Amino acid sequence: MTHHLQKCPHCHKYTLSNQCPLCKISTENVFPPKFSLQDKYQRYRLPYFREKMQKKIIP
Ligand SMILES: [Zn+2]
Repeated sequence: MTHHLQKCPHCHKYTLSNQCPLCKISTENVFPPKFSLQDKYQRYRLPYFREKMQKKIIP
């Protein structure tokens, strides 16, 4: 999978799409592109999913 987590700069909604489904504008990468190690990646992923669960914004 090559999906990268994106975030809308306008409504701040997380999405995997390059375009916000609500605002129809380009989304931006949530994380800096320089994470190469899987271990590093997971460190960011876990808090992210926790936050996602709390906000109940899982599609
Ligand atoms: Zn938006």
